[in-house]
Amino acid sequence: MSKFSEELLNWYRENRRVLPWREDPSPYHVWLSEIMLQQTRVEAVKGYYARFLETLPDVASLAGAQEDTCLKLWEGLGYYSRVMNLRKAACEVMEKYGGEIPGTSAELISLPGIGQYTAAAIASIAYGERIPAVDGNLLRIYSRLEMYEDNIRTPAAQKAASEYFKDLMPENGGERGADNPYGNFNQALMDLGSAVCLPNSAPDCENCPVSMFCRIHREKTGAEAELPNIPAGKEKKTEHLTVFLIRSGEKTAVKKRPARGLLAGLYEFPNAQGELEMEEALKWLRAHSVEPVRIRRICDAEHVFTHRKWIMRGYEVMTDSFSEGEIPFIMADPEEIAGRYCIPSAFGGYTGWLNRQIYRINSEKQE
Ligand code: SF4
Repeated sequence: MSKFSEELLNWYRENRRVLPWREDPSPYHVWLSEIMLQQTRVEAVKGYYARFLETLPDVASLAGAQEDTCLKLWEGLGYYSRVMNLRKAACEVMEKYGGEIPGTSAELISLPGIGQYTAAAIASIAYGERIPAVDGNLLRIYSRLEMYEDNIRTPAAQKAASEYFKDLMPENGGERGADNPYGNFNQALMDLGSAVCLPNSAPDCENCPVSMFCRIHREKTGAEAELPNIPAGKEKKTEHLTVFLIRSGEKTAVKKRPARGLLAGLYEFPNAQGELEMEEALKWLRAHSVEPVRIRRICDAEHVFTHRKWIMRGYEVMTDSFSEGEIPFIMADPEEIAGRYCIPSAFGGYTGWLNRQIYRINSEKQE
Protein backbone atom coordinates (compact mmCIF):
# COMPACT_ATOMS: atom_id res chain seq x y z
CA MET A 1 0.00 0.00 0.00
CA SER A 2 1.33 3.49 -0.82
CA LYS A 3 2.36 5.63 2.14
CA PHE A 4 -0.30 8.12 1.03
CA SER A 5 -3.07 5.48 1.30
CA GLU A 6 -1.79 4.28 4.62
CA GLU A 7 -1.82 7.76 6.17
CA LEU A 8 -5.18 8.60 4.63
CA LEU A 9 -6.90 5.37 5.69
CA ASN A 10 -5.47 5.55 9.23
CA TRP A 11 -6.85 9.06 9.53
CA TYR A 12 -10.20 7.89 8.15
CA ARG A 13 -10.49 5.10 10.71
CA GLU A 14 -10.20 7.67 13.49
CA ASN A 15 -12.11 10.57 11.96
CA ARG A 16 -14.72 9.19 9.58
CA ARG A 17 -18.13 10.81 9.65
CA VAL A 18 -20.88 8.55 10.87
CA LEU A 19 -23.56 8.78 8.20
CA PRO A 20 -26.73 6.71 7.85
CA TRP A 21 -25.87 5.41 4.37
CA ARG A 22 -22.45 4.28 5.56
CA GLU A 23 -23.92 1.91 8.14
CA ASP A 24 -25.33 -0.41 5.49
CA PRO A 25 -23.71 0.54 2.17
CA SER A 26 -25.89 -1.59 -0.09
CA PRO A 27 -25.83 -0.51 -3.75
CA TYR A 28 -29.33 1.04 -3.40
CA HIS A 29 -28.36 2.98 -0.28
CA VAL A 30 -25.12 4.28 -1.79
CA TRP A 31 -26.86 5.19 -5.03
CA LEU A 32 -29.71 7.05 -3.32
CA SER A 33 -27.39 8.93 -0.96
CA GLU A 34 -25.00 9.93 -3.75
CA ILE A 35 -27.83 11.30 -5.88
CA MET A 36 -29.28 13.21 -2.92
CA LEU A 37 -25.87 14.60 -1.99
CA GLN A 38 -25.30 16.21 -5.39
CA GLN A 39 -25.32 19.98 -4.79
CA THR A 40 -26.82 19.40 -1.33
CA ARG A 41 -25.35 19.52 2.18
CA VAL A 42 -25.00 16.30 4.16
CA GLU A 43 -27.06 17.63 7.07
CA ALA A 44 -29.94 18.53 4.76
CA VAL A 45 -29.89 15.08 3.15
CA LYS A 46 -30.14 12.94 6.32
CA GLY A 47 -33.88 13.50 6.93
CA TYR A 48 -34.79 13.13 3.26
CA TYR A 49 -32.77 9.92 3.03
CA ALA A 50 -34.58 8.34 5.98
CA ARG A 51 -38.03 9.39 4.72
CA PHE A 52 -37.34 8.20 1.19
CA LEU A 53 -36.23 4.76 2.41
CA GLU A 54 -39.24 4.44 4.69
CA THR A 55 -41.56 4.85 1.70
CA LEU A 56 -39.41 3.30 -1.04
CA PRO A 57 -37.03 0.85 0.64
CA ASP A 58 -35.67 -0.83 -2.49
CA VAL A 59 -35.28 -0.59 -6.27
CA ALA A 60 -38.51 -2.49 -6.92
CA SER A 61 -40.63 -0.10 -4.81
CA LEU A 62 -38.95 2.91 -6.44
CA ALA A 63 -39.60 1.53 -9.93
CA GLY A 64 -43.27 0.97 -9.06
CA ALA A 65 -43.82 4.36 -7.39
CA GLN A 66 -45.89 7.17 -8.90
CA GLU A 67 -43.93 10.15 -10.22
CA ASP A 68 -45.79 12.49 -7.83
CA THR A 69 -44.88 10.29 -4.83
CA CYS A 70 -41.19 10.51 -5.72
CA LEU A 71 -41.38 14.26 -6.28
CA LYS A 72 -43.16 14.78 -2.97
CA LEU A 73 -40.42 12.82 -1.16
CA TRP A 74 -37.89 15.11 -2.85
CA GLU A 75 -39.77 18.36 -2.15
CA GLY A 76 -37.34 21.01 -0.92
CA LEU A 77 -34.18 19.19 -2.03
CA GLY A 78 -34.20 20.92 -5.42
CA TYR A 79 -32.77 19.73 -8.76
CA TYR A 80 -35.82 17.53 -9.26
CA SER A 81 -34.55 15.91 -12.43
CA ARG A 82 -32.39 13.85 -10.04
CA VAL A 83 -35.38 12.00 -8.62
CA MET A 84 -37.06 11.65 -12.04
CA ASN A 85 -33.88 10.01 -13.34
CA LEU A 86 -33.57 7.88 -10.21
CA ARG A 87 -37.02 6.46 -10.87
CA LYS A 88 -36.31 5.98 -14.57
CA ALA A 89 -33.06 4.18 -13.73
CA ALA A 90 -34.86 1.94 -11.20
CA CYS A 91 -37.29 0.88 -13.96
CA GLU A 92 -34.31 0.08 -16.19
CA VAL A 93 -32.67 -1.95 -13.40
CA MET A 94 -35.89 -3.97 -13.04
CA GLU A 95 -36.27 -4.54 -16.77
CA LYS A 96 -32.66 -4.99 -17.89
CA TYR A 97 -30.94 -6.37 -14.81
CA GLY A 98 -33.75 -8.32 -13.12
CA GLY A 99 -33.85 -5.91 -10.16
CA GLU A 100 -30.12 -6.28 -9.36
CA ILE A 101 -28.23 -2.95 -9.50
CA PRO A 102 -25.30 -3.54 -11.87
CA GLY A 103 -21.93 -3.97 -10.17
CA THR A 104 -19.43 -2.18 -12.40
CA SER A 105 -18.91 1.51 -13.05
CA ALA A 106 -19.08 0.82 -16.81
CA GLU A 107 -22.62 -0.58 -16.52
CA LEU A 108 -23.77 1.91 -13.89
CA ILE A 109 -22.87 4.89 -16.06
CA SER A 110 -25.35 3.74 -18.70
CA LEU A 111 -28.27 4.32 -16.30
CA PRO A 112 -30.18 7.64 -16.37
CA GLY A 113 -28.80 10.26 -13.97
CA ILE A 114 -25.60 8.36 -13.19
CA GLY A 115 -22.47 10.16 -14.32
CA GLN A 116 -18.81 9.28 -13.99
CA TYR A 117 -18.53 10.35 -10.37
CA THR A 118 -21.69 8.60 -9.13
CA ALA A 119 -20.87 5.40 -11.03
CA ALA A 120 -17.41 5.35 -9.45
CA ALA A 121 -18.79 6.08 -5.96
CA ILE A 122 -21.37 3.25 -6.13
CA ALA A 123 -18.94 0.79 -7.74
CA SER A 124 -16.14 1.47 -5.25
CA ILE A 125 -18.19 1.76 -2.05
CA ALA A 126 -20.82 -0.92 -2.64
CA TYR A 127 -18.93 -3.33 -4.91
CA GLY A 128 -15.24 -2.72 -4.15
CA GLU A 129 -14.14 -1.60 -7.63
CA ARG A 130 -10.73 0.07 -7.79
CA ILE A 131 -11.81 3.42 -9.18
CA PRO A 132 -11.50 6.96 -7.77
CA ALA A 133 -14.75 8.93 -7.45
CA VAL A 134 -13.63 12.35 -8.63
CA ASP A 135 -15.97 15.20 -7.72
CA GLY A 136 -15.33 18.85 -6.83
CA ASN A 137 -13.80 17.83 -3.49
CA LEU A 138 -11.28 15.49 -5.03
CA LEU A 139 -10.43 17.97 -7.76
CA ARG A 140 -9.71 20.62 -5.14
CA ILE A 141 -7.54 18.28 -3.10
CA TYR A 142 -5.74 17.12 -6.23
CA SER A 143 -5.05 20.69 -7.38
CA ARG A 144 -3.38 21.44 -4.05
CA LEU A 145 -1.51 18.16 -3.71
CA GLU A 146 -0.04 18.49 -7.20
CA MET A 147 -0.08 22.30 -7.53
CA TYR A 148 -2.26 21.97 -10.62
CA GLU A 149 -2.64 25.58 -11.70
CA ASP A 150 -4.73 25.24 -14.87
CA ASN A 151 -8.52 25.51 -14.93
CA ILE A 152 -9.77 22.66 -12.75
CA ARG A 153 -13.14 22.42 -14.52
CA THR A 154 -11.91 20.69 -17.63
CA PRO A 155 -11.90 17.06 -18.81
CA ALA A 156 -8.08 17.20 -18.79
CA ALA A 157 -8.02 18.08 -15.08
CA GLN A 158 -10.62 15.38 -14.36
CA LYS A 159 -8.51 12.78 -16.15
CA ALA A 160 -5.30 13.87 -14.44
CA ALA A 161 -6.93 13.74 -10.98
CA SER A 162 -8.46 10.35 -11.68
CA GLU A 163 -5.12 8.86 -12.77
CA TYR A 164 -3.31 10.46 -9.86
CA PHE A 165 -5.66 9.02 -7.23
CA LYS A 166 -5.92 5.64 -8.94
CA ASP A 167 -2.14 5.26 -8.67
CA LEU A 168 -2.34 6.01 -4.97
CA MET A 169 -5.16 3.59 -4.19
CA PRO A 170 -4.30 0.44 -2.25
CA GLU A 171 -3.28 -2.47 -4.44
CA ASN A 172 -5.41 -5.11 -2.79
CA GLY A 173 -9.06 -4.87 -1.99
CA GLY A 174 -12.20 -5.53 -3.92
CA GLU A 175 -14.43 -6.83 -1.15
CA ARG A 176 -18.08 -5.95 -1.35
CA GLY A 177 -19.84 -3.79 1.25
CA ALA A 178 -18.63 -1.86 4.27
CA ASP A 179 -14.94 -1.41 4.95
CA ASN A 180 -13.49 -2.20 1.55
CA PRO A 181 -10.27 -0.27 0.95
CA TYR A 182 -11.31 1.33 -2.36
CA GLY A 183 -14.61 2.56 -0.99
CA ASN A 184 -12.83 3.77 2.14
CA PHE A 185 -10.17 5.54 0.08
CA ASN A 186 -12.83 7.53 -1.77
CA GLN A 187 -14.84 8.24 1.37
CA ALA A 188 -11.69 9.31 3.21
CA LEU A 189 -11.00 11.89 0.49
CA MET A 190 -14.63 13.04 0.64
CA ASP A 191 -14.27 13.54 4.42
CA LEU A 192 -10.90 15.22 4.01
CA GLY A 193 -12.50 17.67 1.56
CA SER A 194 -15.38 18.44 3.90
CA ALA A 195 -13.41 18.78 7.16
CA VAL A 196 -9.76 19.59 6.39
CA CYS A 197 -8.97 20.63 2.82
CA LEU A 198 -11.81 23.12 2.77
CA PRO A 199 -13.00 25.03 -0.29
CA ASN A 200 -13.30 28.67 0.64
CA SER A 201 -11.59 29.32 3.90
CA ALA A 202 -7.97 28.42 4.49
CA PRO A 203 -7.50 24.65 4.65
CA ASP A 204 -6.52 23.11 7.97
CA CYS A 205 -3.09 21.93 6.83
CA GLU A 206 -1.84 21.49 10.39
CA ASN A 207 -4.28 18.61 10.86
CA CYS A 208 -4.04 17.16 7.38
CA PRO A 209 -2.95 13.50 7.25
CA VAL A 210 -1.41 13.91 3.79
CA SER A 211 0.30 17.28 4.21
CA MET A 212 3.71 15.66 3.64
CA PHE A 213 2.59 14.79 0.08
CA CYS A 214 1.16 18.23 -0.66
CA ARG A 215 3.18 20.38 -3.04
CA ILE A 216 1.45 23.68 -2.45
CA HIS A 217 1.73 23.25 1.31
CA ARG A 218 5.45 22.56 1.00
CA GLU A 219 6.29 25.13 -1.66
CA LYS A 220 3.85 27.98 -0.96
CA THR A 221 2.85 27.57 2.68
CA GLY A 222 0.00 29.92 3.54
CA ALA A 223 -1.18 30.19 -0.08
CA GLU A 224 -2.99 26.82 -0.21
CA ALA A 225 -6.42 28.43 -0.67
CA GLU A 226 -5.26 30.03 -3.96
CA LEU A 227 -6.00 26.70 -5.62
CA PRO A 228 -7.97 25.34 -7.35
CA ASN A 229 -8.13 27.67 -10.31
CA ILE A 230 -11.85 28.09 -11.01
CA PRO A 231 -12.60 30.70 -13.69
CA ALA A 232 -15.48 33.06 -12.89
CA GLY A 233 -18.82 31.74 -14.13
CA LYS A 234 -21.25 33.45 -16.49
CA GLU A 235 -23.64 35.97 -15.02
CA LYS A 236 -27.08 34.57 -14.15
CA LYS A 237 -29.98 35.42 -16.41
CA THR A 238 -32.73 37.32 -14.55
CA GLU A 239 -36.39 36.53 -15.25
CA HIS A 240 -39.39 38.45 -13.89
CA LEU A 241 -42.63 36.65 -12.99
CA THR A 242 -46.01 37.39 -11.49
CA VAL A 243 -47.31 34.67 -9.17
CA PHE A 244 -51.01 34.34 -8.40
CA LEU A 245 -52.38 32.77 -5.24
CA ILE A 246 -55.89 32.19 -6.54
CA ARG A 247 -58.08 31.21 -3.62
CA SER A 248 -61.64 30.01 -3.39
CA GLY A 249 -62.87 29.00 0.07
CA GLU A 250 -60.15 26.77 1.54
CA LYS A 251 -58.70 25.88 -1.83
CA THR A 252 -55.80 27.40 -3.75
CA ALA A 253 -55.00 26.98 -7.44
CA VAL A 254 -51.96 24.94 -8.46
CA LYS A 255 -50.90 23.56 -11.80
CA LYS A 256 -48.47 20.98 -13.09
CA ARG A 257 -45.44 22.27 -14.95
CA PRO A 258 -44.53 20.83 -18.36
CA ALA A 259 -42.83 17.43 -18.49
CA ARG A 260 -39.64 18.97 -19.88
CA GLY A 261 -37.42 21.89 -18.89
CA LEU A 262 -36.87 23.70 -15.63
CA LEU A 263 -38.66 22.11 -12.60
CA ALA A 264 -40.24 19.62 -15.00
CA GLY A 265 -43.31 17.76 -13.76
CA LEU A 266 -43.55 19.68 -10.47
CA TYR A 267 -46.48 21.83 -9.35
CA GLU A 268 -46.56 25.61 -9.15
CA PHE A 269 -48.86 28.46 -8.37
CA PRO A 270 -50.22 29.92 -11.63
CA ASN A 271 -47.86 32.57 -12.89
CA ALA A 272 -47.21 34.90 -15.80
CA GLN A 273 -44.09 36.28 -17.44
CA GLY A 274 -43.13 39.79 -16.34
CA GLU A 275 -44.04 41.78 -13.24
CA LEU A 276 -47.63 42.71 -14.07
CA GLU A 277 -49.39 45.86 -12.90
CA MET A 278 -52.90 45.46 -11.46
CA GLU A 279 -54.71 46.05 -14.78
CA GLU A 280 -52.48 43.62 -16.64
CA ALA A 281 -52.92 41.07 -13.83
CA LEU A 282 -56.72 41.32 -14.13
CA LYS A 283 -56.51 40.85 -17.87
CA TRP A 284 -54.32 37.76 -17.43
CA LEU A 285 -56.73 36.27 -14.86
CA ARG A 286 -59.77 36.76 -17.09
CA ALA A 287 -57.92 35.20 -19.98
CA HIS A 288 -57.50 32.18 -17.70
CA SER A 289 -61.18 31.99 -16.74
CA VAL A 290 -60.75 33.55 -13.31
CA GLU A 291 -63.15 36.34 -12.28
CA PRO A 292 -61.68 37.96 -9.14
CA VAL A 293 -63.92 39.08 -6.29
CA ARG A 294 -60.93 40.75 -4.69
CA ILE A 295 -57.29 41.12 -5.65
CA ARG A 296 -54.36 42.55 -3.73
CA ARG A 297 -50.61 42.76 -3.98
CA ILE A 298 -48.74 40.49 -1.57
CA CYS A 299 -45.05 39.86 -1.02
CA ASP A 300 -42.32 39.98 -3.62
CA ALA A 301 -39.88 37.07 -3.71
CA GLU A 302 -36.64 35.96 -5.34
CA HIS A 303 -35.15 32.58 -6.14
CA VAL A 304 -31.67 31.87 -7.44
CA PHE A 305 -31.06 28.77 -9.58
CA THR A 306 -27.69 27.63 -10.89
CA HIS A 307 -27.92 29.65 -14.10
CA ARG A 308 -30.85 31.99 -13.57
CA LYS A 309 -32.61 34.13 -11.07
CA TRP A 310 -36.34 34.69 -10.67
CA ILE A 311 -37.71 37.96 -9.35
CA MET A 312 -41.38 37.53 -8.49
CA ARG A 313 -44.29 39.79 -7.74
CA GLY A 314 -47.25 38.24 -5.94
CA TYR A 315 -51.01 38.76 -5.97
CA GLU A 316 -53.66 37.15 -3.83
CA VAL A 317 -56.83 36.65 -5.82
CA MET A 318 -60.11 35.70 -4.12
CA THR A 319 -62.72 34.23 -6.38
CA ASP A 320 -66.15 32.66 -5.88
CA SER A 321 -66.23 30.65 -9.01
CA PHE A 322 -64.56 30.26 -12.33
CA SER A 323 -66.25 31.44 -15.47
CA GLU A 324 -67.65 29.01 -18.02
CA GLY A 325 -65.22 26.82 -19.86
CA GLU A 326 -62.42 24.56 -18.82
CA ILE A 327 -60.87 25.30 -15.44
CA PRO A 328 -57.18 25.52 -16.20
CA PHE A 329 -55.93 24.84 -12.64
CA ILE A 330 -56.29 22.26 -9.89
CA MET A 331 -58.03 23.70 -6.82
CA ALA A 332 -56.19 22.05 -3.92
CA ASP A 333 -56.92 22.22 -0.21
CA PRO A 334 -54.09 22.82 2.30
CA GLU A 335 -53.68 19.09 3.06
CA GLU A 336 -53.25 18.32 -0.63
CA ILE A 337 -50.69 21.09 -1.05
CA ALA A 338 -48.78 19.78 1.97
CA GLY A 339 -49.07 16.08 1.23
CA ARG A 340 -49.64 15.50 -2.45
CA TYR A 341 -48.48 18.23 -4.81
CA CYS A 342 -44.78 18.93 -4.85
CA ILE A 343 -44.24 22.69 -5.07
CA PRO A 344 -40.52 23.50 -5.40
CA SER A 345 -38.72 25.91 -3.09
CA ALA A 346 -38.53 28.44 -5.95
CA PHE A 347 -42.10 29.27 -4.87
CA GLY A 348 -41.20 28.96 -1.17
CA GLY A 349 -41.94 32.65 -0.50
CA TYR A 350 -45.55 32.08 -1.59
CA THR A 351 -45.98 28.65 0.01
CA GLY A 352 -44.82 30.28 3.26
CA TRP A 353 -47.18 33.22 2.79
CA LEU A 354 -50.09 30.83 2.14
CA ASN A 355 -49.28 28.70 5.19
CA ARG A 356 -49.25 31.81 7.37
CA GLN A 357 -52.70 32.84 6.06
CA ILE A 358 -54.11 29.36 6.69
CA TYR A 359 -52.62 29.31 10.18
CA ARG A 360 -54.12 32.73 10.93
CA ILE A 361 -57.57 31.71 9.65
CA ASN A 362 -57.52 28.46 11.67
CA SER A 363 -56.42 30.29 14.83
CA GLU A 364 -59.24 32.81 14.40
CA LYS A 365 -61.79 29.98 13.97
CA GLN A 366 -60.64 28.37 17.20
CA GLU A 367 -60.97 31.58 19.25
FE1 SF4 B 1 -5.18 20.45 1.57
FE2 SF4 B 1 -3.45 21.59 3.23
FE3 SF4 B 1 -3.74 18.94 3.19
FE4 SF4 B 1 -2.59 20.21 1.19
S1 SF4 B 1 -1.84 20.08 3.26
S2 SF4 B 1 -4.11 18.59 1.01
S3 SF4 B 1 -3.74 22.10 1.10
S4 SF4 B 1 -5.27 20.46 3.80
